[in-house]
Amino acid sequence: MSSKRDYYEVLGVSKNATATEIKKAYRKLAIKYHPDKNPDNAEAEAKFKQAAEAYEILSNPQKKAKYDQFGHSAFDGSGGFGGGGMDMDDIFSQFGDIFGGGGFGGFGGFGGGQQRRHAKGSNLRIRVKLKLKDVAKGVEKKVKVSRKKQANDTTYTTCSTCNGSGQVTKITNTILGRMQTATTCGTCSGSGKQLDKRGKGTDAHGLKIEEETVSIKIPAGVEDGMQMKVPGKGNEAPGGVAGDLIVLIEVEENNSLQRDGENLHYDLYVSFADAALGGSKEIETVDGKVRIKIEPGVQSGKILRLRGKGLPKLNAYNSGDLLVHINVWTPKALSKEQKNFFEKMKDDSNFIPDPQKSDKSFFEKVKDMFS
Ligand SMILES: [Zn+2]
Repeated sequence: MSSKRDYYEVLGVSKNATATEIKKAYRKLAIKYHPDKNPDNAEAEAKFKQAAEAYEILSNPQKKAKYDQFGHSAFDGSGGFGGGGMDMDDIFSQFGDIFGGGGFGGFGGFGGGQQRRHAKGSNLRIRVKLKLKDVAKGVEKKVKVSRKKQANDTTYTTCSTCNGSGQVTKITNTILGRMQTATTCGTCSGSGKQLDKRGKGTDAHGLKIEEETVSIKIPAGVEDGMQMKVPGKGNEAPGGVAGDLIVLIEVEENNSLQRDGENLHYDLYVSFADAALGGSKEIETVDGKVRIKIEPGVQSGKILRLRGKGLPKLNAYNSGDLLVHINVWTPKALSKEQKNFFEKMKDDSNFIPDPQKSDKSFFEKVKDMFS
């Protein structure tokens, strides 16, 4: 036991060193002699253990006082390290202290990720209903959201379990060797902060529900069922970052315009007379009403394509088309006079079907649409 080096000597600090100086000195040595950096180096491992042992004593005010008074003999027997020195598990468990709490960036691969993981507040979800014209133009929606927010009169202290790092390090022995894993601190859920004083009207975490109007910019071309994320507009977390607001898009059905991706379909019913004589008809588009021309002799099932009158593609510049489907309305009842007229026309050559190439059947047109 008497062969043991002086703890101050091991860490390379004076007897008057402050706690910060002791911590700093140990940190330096722990990095230098860390087993990850010195594989299969028994000398490094011994130095690593020595430094850890010295730090364990000198970082604890009571143990330090005992050591200052009695030297190594203070720890002979119970509470000491015996001949084997400190256990590796104990050494690694110190690391939350030493390397946590930020300020220790850039040591890649050391101990499997000591970087601080902030606690994140939970996400909030809302539905936003859109009309087809909102989809066509894009829209800014203002919604009221009840969010959990940090109250001004709530105060926090550094979490005593993880010393503010938000993480605790666990060592497990596996057949592949020692595995060091960092897990979220259970006491503070990773925020690194503990509730000190709860503000007025706050929950167990010192958070208060407040209504906030959030403005959501919805781009043109969105579809029913799509989700958008408004970052940071979910619930706040004590000392952490706020969750997100998840917006579920609902597009209301339109009575006259059927959506098919970026294309729209419109059923236009024309009378027998209009089909025969031609004329103009008003139809609905996402931009309001538009007049279109009906050629005399138009056939039922003809599709008129209005280019660019559909919906814009999401994140693109071009738009789909509006497809107007012509449906010729056959009268369901006829007066005696009308009946006589059609009886006379039955064998008239103008009334006998004689489809030309330009009067493609419904099926041919559908084939064309998908080719
Ligand atoms: Zn904690």
